[in-house]
Amino acid sequence: MGDSAAILKQALRALELTPGLSLLRVSDVYETVPVGPPQPDYLNCCALLDTTLEPLPLLQTLLAIEQQAGRVRLERNGPRTLDLDLLLYGSLVLETPELTVPHPRMHQRGFVLVPLADIAPDWVHPVLKQTVAQLATQIDRLGVSRRAPVC
Ligand code: AMP
Repeated sequence: MGDSAAILKQALRALELTPGLSLLRVSDVYETVPVGPPQPDYLNCCALLDTTLEPLPLLQTLLAIEQQAGRVRLERNGPRTLDLDLLLYGSLVLETPELTVPHPRMHQRGFVLVPLADIAPDWVHPVLKQTVAQLATQIDRLGVSRRAPVC
């Protein structure tokens, strides 16, 4: 919801300004068809970060940036201003009530794997033992179209 391109830029800026976190690479932005109830298309991108933050504080940072963008949780997979997901954290495998890494649905989603393959094709999914590029060849790219660089 809202001016998604501007919201994405703002979120990347907020990440850049977070102590202990630096932005190494950002993919192009892709326009993608929504998963869930009928709603406008999404803009998606992936970012590669270097951080000294542990996984949970990193997730809390992402949730705080979602809040700054006026995120309100209404229905599952419903329209929203901003959704930040932690996809991978090195080769960590973690399953806690608050956080699951790798993100449990990342390997099924074209809107994740297509932009992620732009910036981290050789990253090995620590559970599936396949690279992002390999996973990206196995998913449906329909409804995922490159739009533009973020900046
Ligand atoms: P949603 O915004 O609907 O995707 O759900 C966000 C919630 O999922 C957060 O409050 C987290 O506690 C939880 N969660 C679990 N694993 C992850 C992850 N890898 N990335 C983001 N959120 C996660």
